[in-house]
Amino acid sequence: MIMEIALGAAAALFLVFLWQGINVAPLLFLTGMSILLYILLNTRNGLNSKNFSVIKSENQNLVKFEQIGGQETAKKELLEALDFIRYPDKVANMGIRPLKGILLVGPPGTGKTLLAKAAASYTDSVFLAAGGSEFIEMYAGVGAQRIRQIFSKAKNMALKEKKKSAIIFIDEIEILGGKRGTHVSHHEYDQTLNQLLVEMDGMTMDKRVRTLVIGATNRADLLDSALVRPGRFDRIVQVDLPDVTARKEILKLHVANKPLADCVDLDKLARETFGFSGAHLESVANEAAILAMREQQEHITQKHFSDAIEKVMMGEKLERKPDKAELRRVAVHEIGHALAGEKARPGSVSNVTTTPRGKALGYMRQSPEKDSYLYTQQYLEGQIFVMVAGAAAEEIVLGNRSTGACNDFEQAVKVAKQMIAAGMSSLGTVSLEDLPKSLLHREIQQIIARQQANVLEYLSPKKNLILELAEILIHEERINGEFIRTRLQEKSLNSA
Ligand code: ATP
Repeated sequence: MIMEIALGAAAALFLVFLWQGINVAPLLFLTGMSILLYILLNTRNGLNSKNFSVIKSENQNLVKFEQIGGQETAKKELLEALDFIRYPDKVANMGIRPLKGILLVGPPGTGKTLLAKAAASYTDSVFLAAGGSEFIEMYAGVGAQRIRQIFSKAKNMALKEKKKSAIIFIDEIEILGGKRGTHVSHHEYDQTLNQLLVEMDGMTMDKRVRTLVIGATNRADLLDSALVRPGRFDRIVQVDLPDVTARKEILKLHVANKPLADCVDLDKLARETFGFSGAHLESVANEAAILAMREQQEHITQKHFSDAIEKVMMGEKLERKPDKAELRRVAVHEIGHALAGEKARPGSVSNVTTTPRGKALGYMRQSPEKDSYLYTQQYLEGQIFVMVAGAAAEEIVLGNRSTGACNDFEQAVKVAKQMIAAGMSSLGTVSLEDLPKSLLHREIQQIIARQQANVLEYLSPKKNLILELAEILIHEERINGEFIRTRLQEKSLNSA
């Protein structure tokens, strides 16, 4: 209303000035500028409030520590740290300084968000969650303002809900907590981080609401040292990929509400999913149920789980159908991998298929015997032996190689580099960074060439077996490791 009156009055004034013959150009310019400024300011405030959905209040009662599989060390450390919220008097009597921040560090999907939510439900705190990127805007000062807002909102929400504590969870904290001065538009990033530090320093001032900040990252090395110094995020909790026991527990949690067939062996599934995160395992359980439903079956079988593992590992099956010659090449290539896999680690081949998934036209899957975190030279050489076997089989059977082996070679180069870095090459103990590129290149070539020679020597006498198994694979689309092992045994008995 006021706006309309002001506009009307201004228009009337202009008309009077024009009537009197006064030059209105400077006045028009000034008015135009004022309107522009007004619109800009309004847009900026509008953006602020619109994007303010960074703050989400979630129903933390939904997640309890018991619903998180494995992560025993992380849970123990977190629980210890949470005592200061649960028993503030006890902590104060001991003269312990209140904890302000806990940093959860680990690969994606390992349950960091779940742990933060469980911490909120365990301490009966209000829970606010935001992603690091949501604090960063193109306008200087917006990030700092949002930090202030999330802290004051946490406090106000706790007071309103009559709770004594609040947990602020900031995921991907490295985005706003990265080392200062390293960003291109560093002024805005630095201001946001400075504000976070200021808020964390002032957190203990309010005795009514105890606030705890939980940050999550998979790149702790990028964080500014001021953020991880004692008195701020001084508890760093490692949230690692689950081991075999933890994987079984996580699978158990995610299949609890699903109808399983009697044949389902969770121990086997846990063994076959080395390197999977909690999120991957959740996806395996979900995909297995979807596959069972697609086939209109009432129970989820072990086969559904095996297919789901492959889907999560390699991606969705593709409709792409290679022509006959290509399919034959894929089959020969994969059988090469499988025979070499059995030689390097007897009993390890799980299955071979020519079903295209993700980027692969076919694949051979080996299941690990046990979780391994250290590898011997023999093991790594064995891996290269298996990786180069696909191309070797193509060469033996078809007389040439194809681009299908590119990815295998990339992997083989990675393993060879790992061997050089671990001092397992003829160069002895060296630093990869200081090694001249040409020398590194030559050493990688030599390591791979040795295994190529070995695999050619091993597979050449098995040309007929490769052909026979490849024909079966083309026909069946998938053959399991057991069948390959039987054929290998029969072949060695016949030739003995
Ligand atoms: P990111 O780093 O990508 O944010 P995150 O570590 O925070 O990932 P979460 O969001 O906590 O991972 O986990 C994603 C999903 O994976 C969960 O919703 C849950 O279904 C499953 N999950 C992960 N870890 C576990 C676990 N330890 N127990 C049970 N489920 C888990």
